[in-house]
Amino acid sequence: PLFSDLGLSEPIQRAIDEAGYIHPTPIQAQAIPYVLMGRDVLGVAQTGTGKTAGFTLPMLEILSGSRARARMPRSLILEPTRELALQVAENFVKYGKYLKLNHALLIGGESMAEQKDVLNRGVDVLIATPGRLIDLFERGGLLLTQTRLLVIDEADRMLDMGFIPDIEKIVGMLSPLRQTLFFSATMAPEIRRLADMFLQNPKEITV
Ligand code: AMP
Repeated sequence: PLFSDLGLSEPIQRAIDEAGYIHPTPIQAQAIPYVLMGRDVLGVAQTGTGKTAGFTLPMLEILSGSRARARMPRSLILEPTRELALQVAENFVKYGKYLKLNHALLIGGESMAEQKDVLNRGVDVLIATPGRLIDLFERGGLLLTQTRLLVIDEADRMLDMGFIPDIEKIVGMLSPLRQTLFFSATMAPEIRRLADMFLQNPKEITV
């Protein structure tokens, strides 16, 4: 298939063209239509498979097609490390260059005060590591009541790093009326248990 067959809108397709992508990778071809339909997705995929664009592109499509009713984050992407969060933010900027959407990066090692300022100005997408997100939430600097699209990326690494209690806490802050995309390189029993807990009738994709 061609990228242009996936029905992404012109500003997003233009950014894809400029990135030089012609064909979606298997995870992209399989995940993007289901995300656009509003389905939960359980993706078993390693890094390097194009999974970042697999969730970023349809997220941009969904956000650009609906107006923000408040200046509260509508999407949340959880990453296990600051490096991965930074990479996702770069992807967001690259694919969203023709859209008027903004993001905040909530990761350790950055100024809390600055992150609070960015949040106060209003953001569409939060890209966060779990610890920093919980810190900001507990200091009262964050409302997640409008967050309807959640990405849990690299779930197996989250597990290895001991972040699962944090993730459970964060998911508990979100509306149950949300769409959830869950990615892991492996599908160990513990990961399966988490997926069952966080996802509703997910489309399962293995690449
Ligand atoms: P990821 O697995 O998301 O970290 O992506 C791995 C690399 O593949 C990144 O450098 C992307 O820029 C690149 N990439 C993602 N999707 C495509 C595509 N459809 N065609 C060519 N390259 C891609």
